[in-house]
Amino acid sequence: MPRALDPRLREQLAARLQYYRDLGIYDFYRREGVAAAAEITEDMPRKRESKIVAAETGVAVAEPRQAARDVELELRAISQDIGECTRCRLSKARNNILFGTGNVHAELMFVGEGPGADEDEQGLPFVGRAGQLLNNMIAAMGLRREDVYIANIVKCRPPQNRTPERDECETCIPFLLRQIAAIRPKVIVALGATAARNLLAINSPMGELRGRWYDFRVNVTSQGRPDPGGFTAKLAVTYHPAFLLRDPRQKKETWKDLQMVMQYLGLKPPSKSAAPA
Ligand code: URA
Repeated sequence: MPRALDPRLREQLAARLQYYRDLGIYDFYRREGVAAAAEITEDMPRKRESKIVAAETGVAVAEPRQAARDVELELRAISQDIGECTRCRLSKARNNILFGTGNVHAELMFVGEGPGADEDEQGLPFVGRAGQLLNNMIAAMGLRREDVYIANIVKCRPPQNRTPERDECETCIPFLLRQIAAIRPKVIVALGATAARNLLAINSPMGELRGRWYDFRVNVTSQGRPDPGGFTAKLAVTYHPAFLLRDPRQKKETWKDLQMVMQYLGLKPPSKSAAPA
């Protein structure tokens, strides 16, 4: 049974909730110490459609249908939901949870497999030798690492760098999908078979997966709620940089994949034949 609120406090809370709604924030979580705010949301109108409001001048103005979102705030909420995660066995040996890094407004997002030893130590994705090669690939596209967003299928290092197991991926991917819903990149590049197979739910060999576009539909909000409208990013698959370190002959094929992405995003390489070294 909700507690009766002091009418003045109720009014203040209603004004605060309206302020958040105007910013495009509609979903609230109940946390210790803010129970009163959570209670009042039960009575608040849930309408999200555009509406006509009278400004102080008395002139009717249309509110935008989708108010500006604070992507950083949304990502912070996802990170808080992950917390000190112990949802799967990978938590046992990890040093750091790798949430993701980069430009939260990026048009281009790379998704790798999972942290290695260097990444686990530093808490950042792709900082080892494979990371250096990924940096070269990004530079060859005429971008800087700070221009893109980088994340992984699993956020904790699998022991001995083994491939993450299906249940580990299934536990972690919902958070990645929420990140994608927050960032809304135009293009996602899946690095390697594990990323591609998990994102696309297709168990084909790399040779068949790469060299074409996929429509990647995200049907959750960044809060993890169903979003039937959702949004769609383009998804391309290419070789994982760690694989390219073992088989540099495939760099040529990778460059073809990256050029396909560049063409879609209207990117020009910084100079002639800048294929990644
Ligand atoms: N390999 C990955 O897939 N991700 C990293 O972050 C590092 C290496």
